[in-house]
Amino acid sequence: MRVLDIIEGTVVDGVGLRTSIYFAGCTHHCPQCHNPHSWDASAGREMSVDEIMAHVTEYDLNVTFSGGDPLLQIDNGLLQLAGRIRSLGKTIWCYTGYTLEEIEADEKLRRILDAVDVIVEGRFIAALRDIHLSFRGSSNQRIIDARTRQELNFDTKL
Ligand code: SF4
Repeated sequence: MRVLDIIEGTVVDGVGLRTSIYFAGCTHHCPQCHNPHSWDASAGREMSVDEIMAHVTEYDLNVTFSGGDPLLQIDNGLLQLAGRIRSLGKTIWCYTGYTLEEIEADEKLRRILDAVDVIVEGRFIAALRDIHLSFRGSSNQRIIDARTRQELNFDTKL
């Protein structure tokens, strides 16, 4: 898997202190993306599941997959990584530019819904940018419970 960075103790990529893993590559190319250097799928460095797990176990926090778009790694070990993290009792939030509907319609992408706890989905739309939103950049983006497929609302709690 191509990894741009791994940051421990972030509080903006989901509930609580989390280890955020930023994967390289994004094909959505949202105008005014906060992180366009993440679009290059060859950026960062190649890391195995074992190498990433060494960071996860060292920090011992819940985990967030971000990027880039982590779903580009779905054939490269992302599901195996998720399974290893969950076996430690950790929760996983996964950011993606795909919408829930696009994920559900795609046989390959759909597997992420059983592998993580929360999906933060949808392209960033600059016209809908709202700095008051929790854990996402624009109001079209939804925070979804991956098991129930229901939208979660954190904005009234923070
Ligand atoms: S999905 Fe995220 S990383 Fe990809 S272009 Fe859009 S805002 Fe940037």
